[in-house]
Amino acid sequence: MPDMKGQCHCGAVQIIIPSLPTERIECNCSWCRKSGWTGGYWNPSAVKVVAKPEVLNGRVQGDKTITLWNCKICGSHTHWTPLTAPPERMGINMRMFDPTDWQDLPVRKVDGASF
Ligand SMILES: [Zn+2]
Repeated sequence: MPDMKGQCHCGAVQIIIPSLPTERIECNCSWCRKSGWTGGYWNPSAVKVVAKPEVLNGRVQGDKTITLWNCKICGSHTHWTPLTAPPERMGINMRMFDPTDWQDLPVRKVDGASF
């Protein structure tokens, strides 16, 4: 399978992944619900985020395990990277990709609201 390319609403942040995930995550925590997040996980070494550094806005999330990134121009929530979380995993918002690519993936519901 060729690399898959996604991008934020305005295109300033592009994300390249080697393949589809085997499932996508839907979480019921407040942040995920309000941002419309549906995620896939990869090893950071397999993912390419192409953006000018000044375009990316990072926000360290509540318990400081990950940094949530969004595009400063259009606001799209694009990905997260581990801070104190295990370094072998990062999350990508599948909504940056064409829905036909990911909408039929099995959904794994995560009860983040109870964490
Ligand atoms: Zn953007």
